[in-house]
Amino acid sequence: MAVPKRRTSASRKGMRRSHHGLKPKGHAYCDRCADPIKPHFLCAKCGWSNVQKRELVNMEAKTEG
Ligand SMILES: [Zn+2]
Repeated sequence: MAVPKRRTSASRKGMRRSHHGLKPKGHAYCDRCADPIKPHFLCAKCGWSNVQKRELVNMEAKTEG
């Protein structure tokens, strides 16, 4: 079985792990309230659509009932 000839230095280990950080997933921000939203989805907070540039769901009317 193959065995490493040298132990991995702290520097080498750091260089290898420089790619291990999590990258932010694709997301957009609501044009109206600037909350993070999924692209092409309505804003869960204010019901705004970035695609159609208008409010599709009136969130205030929904919570009143
Ligand atoms: Zn919003």
